Amino acid sequence: MHIDCLGCRIAHQLEAAHLIYEDEHVACVLDIQPFNSGHTLILPKQHYLDLEEIDEETLSAIFKASVLLSKALKSALNPMGLASFKMAVCLMI
Ligand SMILES: [Zn+2]
Repeated sequence: MHIDCLGCRIAHQLEAAHLIYEDEHVACVLDIQPFNSGHTLILPKQHYLDLEEIDEETLSAIFKASVLLSKALKSALNPMGLASFKMAVCLMI
């Protein structure tokens, strides 16, 4: 974790955020300025400078969280019939 990194501070709950899922590798929070309902940030708990640096376990955790969040958000937001529904998940590194 880098204390100067906003993503790290949010992932480690040093900043106020609406946490909706976490495991040992990632923390998932609702964006404070969402593009649409359910806009969620998936934040690795370890600090990375580039996508290529992310280890296999964290990559797996990111995709596991993406699938879980997709199911949960689709269930909660009931997007059936809404042509404009789009899930936005951001990776903040
Ligand atoms: Zn960071």
